[in-house]
Amino acid sequence: MMNKANRVMNFSGGPAVLPLEVLEQARSELFNYRNSGASVMELSYQAEEYLALQAEALADVRRVLDVPEGWQVLFCQGGGNMQFSAVPLNLMGLKPKGRGAYVNSGNFSSRALKEAGRYGPVDEVASSRDTLFDRIPEFDPAGLHPDTAYVHITSNNTVMGTQWPEIPRLEGFPLVVDATSELMSRPLDFSRIGLIYAGAQKNLGPPGLTVVIVREDLLGHARGDTPKLLDYTRLARENSMLCTPNTFAIYISGLVFKWILAQGGVEEMQQRALKRSGLVYEMLDRHSGFYRPHSRPEHRSCLNATFRLPTEGLEKSFLDEARQQGMSGLKGHKVLGGIRASMYNGLPVEWAAALAGFMDEFARRKG
Ligand SMILES: *Cc1c(COP(=O)(O)O)cnc(C)c1O
Repeated sequence: MMNKANRVMNFSGGPAVLPLEVLEQARSELFNYRNSGASVMELSYQAEEYLALQAEALADVRRVLDVPEGWQVLFCQGGGNMQFSAVPLNLMGLKPKGRGAYVNSGNFSSRALKEAGRYGPVDEVASSRDTLFDRIPEFDPAGLHPDTAYVHITSNNTVMGTQWPEIPRLEGFPLVVDATSELMSRPLDFSRIGLIYAGAQKNLGPPGLTVVIVREDLLGHARGDTPKLLDYTRLARENSMLCTPNTFAIYISGLVFKWILAQGGVEEMQQRALKRSGLVYEMLDRHSGFYRPHSRPEHRSCLNATFRLPTEGLEKSFLDEARQQGMSGLKGHKVLGGIRASMYNGLPVEWAAALAGFMDEFARRKG
């Protein structure tokens, strides 16, 4: 049996911790998947067992998120970054002189904006760069260019530790959401969204799979030179099988979707996310003279908590001591430095409690 004590408390920003039950099930089926006599990794993607597995995973995305009729769920590759290209290629053509509007709330938004600019005109319609992305910027849709084909936001800013408290409602423009670090951690109101995407490796599974959910009326407008593998319409028509799919990532993510359903669904995931992040933010507030949170309280992320300590020396001791207590992955992203605790769906609430306990004790001792 796997010894649970040998598992480190992994607060990594991604790839991230997976539920132990999922890993155990994968191990139990590793050599012989459901009497096929082979591992999922070794099955043809046209094999009956595999086709059933993928169909079930797609159906479970719909079940977990309550995806309405008239929407397509696609399995892509290339991570969140590939969607930075796929979105403008597919959606700028929604209008004759279509342009992309980007709300810039951090590292990944900036990258999405830059990449889209390679394919057509883009507008940075709001930005919080002036305060080092410590907040979600104010955004007034009234100022959008009339040729705007879509508006892109990053719902959770993984590096900065900020999150849109709710997905905004836009009239007249399809909203595209990069939800890479939050999909399936809270319920979604699809009436506000045109397209939403997420790389699996934060909340949903291992790296190598990207889930895209798109409203059908947005399909059919891809540029003529869009690479086949990035064309949502073709992906939808051909069951996300334009090349050999990442079968193993889809398999593991499928197990995670079932795990989420068994735990009580996205509502339960949201409760846990609030609990975990609440424990950590409580310590940041309790020791506010010692810990220096990056994000403004009203835009704090439930998934990624970012903060600094008074000196880099103390940050190093914090990381070293945390490591000795079995906690890893806490080093902040290089653009921000300091500490980042990422707490995705697979992270047990007890680990967040252990981190909070350590933060409390460390601040008392060193503060
Ligand atoms: C991690 C992340 C990405 C990039 O994902 P890749 O799969 O590495 O391309 C994009 N957007 C957000 C919000 C992320 O957290």
